[in-house]
Amino acid sequence: MADAGADMLHIDVMDGHFVPNISYGAVVQKSLRRVTDLFFDTHLMITQPQRYIADFVKTGSGRITFHIEAEGDPRETIRLIREAGALPAVSVKPGTPAEAVFPLLPELDMVLVMTVEPGFGGQSFMADMMPKVRALRREADRLSLPLNIQVDGGIDLPTAPLAAEAGANILVAGSALFSKPDYAKAVAALRAAAESALV
Ligand code: ZN
Repeated sequence: MADAGADMLHIDVMDGHFVPNISYGAVVQKSLRRVTDLFFDTHLMITQPQRYIADFVKTGSGRITFHIEAEGDPRETIRLIREAGALPAVSVKPGTPAEAVFPLLPELDMVLVMTVEPGFGGQSFMADMMPKVRALRREADRLSLPLNIQVDGGIDLPTAPLAAEAGANILVAGSALFSKPDYAKAVAALRAAAESALV
């Protein structure tokens, strides 16, 4: 599988409990690893992330994102992810404020700000989440942390610059790429759109 110029592959895991849909688990991720060397950025939209961390790291996750709204002590989840050999990240749903993850920032590689309700593709971007991205970038800067901030949901040519301008440096795109015939061209166009906000 060609990487089409993307920096990583974002893998959305849904358990039918934390979110209504079921997507796939570590077995499918393992089969993806056979066809690409891309960095696996695994987003666990599941109720009990701690139970599955080892399986996902074994099948290729370079980074694991769990939800702050999921079960389990987040500090323990972060510790388990690091111990398994992946970078830890935490995600906040639209209804959860940035401040909920402030105490965890020094331990994290990344915070994922959901710009749609998690669990379904094809939703439109919630621009009112941009103050949350700004607040996270401000707090990370205040603490001198090189935090990655990811935005997931509704990223396309018009919304990519909004997220980049607010302080996100990793943008997840699904429909905006997969609806296009030429993925490489679509990735390049999105990257250019995001970078246009930074000059
Ligand atoms: Zn995701």
